[in-house]
Amino acid sequence: MKSKNHHHQQLHIFLFPFMAQGHIIPTIDMAKLFASRGLKATIITTPFHAPLLSSNTFQNDTVSESHIDVLTIEFPSVENGLPQGCESFHMVASSSDLLPKFFKATTMLDSQLDHLLKRHRPDCLVADFFFPWATDVAGRYGIPRLIFHGTCYFSLCATLCVYRYAPHKHVSSDSETFVIPNLPGDIKFTRNQLPEFQKNNVENVITKLFKASKEAEERSYGTVVNSFYELEPVYADHYRKGLGVEAWHIGPLFLYNKSNEDKAKRGFMEPSNIDGHECLKWLNAKRPNSVVYVCFGSLADFNDAQLLEIALGLEASGKEFVWVVKKEKQEGVKEDWLPEGFEKRIEGKGLIVRGWAPQVLIVGHEAIGGFVTHCGWNSTLEGVCAGVPMVTWPVSAEQFYNERLVTQILGIGVGVGTQRWTRLVGDSVKREAIEKAVNRIMEGEEAEEMRSKASALGEMARKAIQEDGSSYLELNALIEELRLHRTDCGSNLQSMG
Ligand code: UDP
Repeated sequence: MKSKNHHHQQLHIFLFPFMAQGHIIPTIDMAKLFASRGLKATIITTPFHAPLLSSNTFQNDTVSESHIDVLTIEFPSVENGLPQGCESFHMVASSSDLLPKFFKATTMLDSQLDHLLKRHRPDCLVADFFFPWATDVAGRYGIPRLIFHGTCYFSLCATLCVYRYAPHKHVSSDSETFVIPNLPGDIKFTRNQLPEFQKNNVENVITKLFKASKEAEERSYGTVVNSFYELEPVYADHYRKGLGVEAWHIGPLFLYNKSNEDKAKRGFMEPSNIDGHECLKWLNAKRPNSVVYVCFGSLADFNDAQLLEIALGLEASGKEFVWVVKKEKQEGVKEDWLPEGFEKRIEGKGLIVRGWAPQVLIVGHEAIGGFVTHCGWNSTLEGVCAGVPMVTWPVSAEQFYNERLVTQILGIGVGVGTQRWTRLVGDSVKREAIEKAVNRIMEGEEAEEMRSKASALGEMARKAIQEDGSSYLELNALIEELRLHRTDCGSNLQSMG
């Protein structure tokens, strides 16, 4: 039981994620973490994602529901030339026409945020990197604004160094390599692998937003990072001391989902042909480390030709697999991405999940011995914690940076060979490359070495969030700072009064 006094002092944190599953999911995890430490957390979202928040309810053993609230704001779709109800990033991500309109619409959420902050006066606002204007809105009420980028220290450092020193402007072609300046580790990159907003010299809504976000970083209270110190100590130090950004690492956030039920429900919005229970049953019948898990996150949208290569590559590898494909089955319709007779041939050996997979449950199962991933940060971290080697297949966002962390710095993965940032469709990869990379992470000396490094990191991750672990202590430090900030503001207000 908490004392009345304690309750009186409860800190209240507002969380405002970008409207994409890869951002909302870790934000829900973060809310659970704050609530488990006695803080009150309120998540702001738009109507489309509200069911995701209520279905990933906060009723588990560690968290009392009363500590987490959800507030809904309207998303100005129609006003910005988007279809009615178009308020999730995955609905616009592949459209060069809708994408800028979507980002424009997000900038119009400021007055609703202002209204909520004025009314609720939280002690802190954790708002997504994509909302640079949130810093100033929070500032009007003396509320410190923390930024959540949703990625690791390594990629935060790399992004900042490319932004500050612009090495890509000094190469003569998109495929010429350059070393990222002031980034430890001799990281070589090409312009082809940079996100569009960093690569382009043109000014558009997205590049402007990126610039505004970078500028807002300098005026914000700091950054919260979904990572843990032991994973990337050099980059955690470099980001803070070398590059001078205030930051707190409090991850891996997904580890705060303790029960299988919480894990199975995580992020679940779309229908799926299979539920968590069935997946586990299927995996339970397999030998440890014998199955490869293949999933490209919530956004990647490969064409049929690429999916066909994946199917043939997996089959040629001879490995058992769970493959998540975002395609619904339509009875009687021939599916060009499925090789002739494939489903029959793989019966019992391969499981195709159509729709949303309970990824944390699957990847953490002992039968899973490797993970083919697009290197979204959430997936990457889930792979690390599961102790599995990875085939890295970056597509867009900051995924090419994440790949480098996995392959070059941590030595727990091998690249499939993608060279080009291409929003969602991905650089094309042939079946032979897929087969080879899958075999490299699943069997042999190299695979065993990677697996043992990854397991050691997974162990460290679990320790990091335990009492007195590195992430636990960072969160203590952050909470303490926020308390002090509140006391300071309170006394300033009193002296003004
Ligand atoms: N995810 C899942 N089931 C799926 C696809 C994705 O549970 O079928 C989860 C995955 O576990 C991760 C998140 O969705 O937590 C995806 O985030 P990530 O950063 O990996 O990639 P993004 O979707 O942002 O590209």
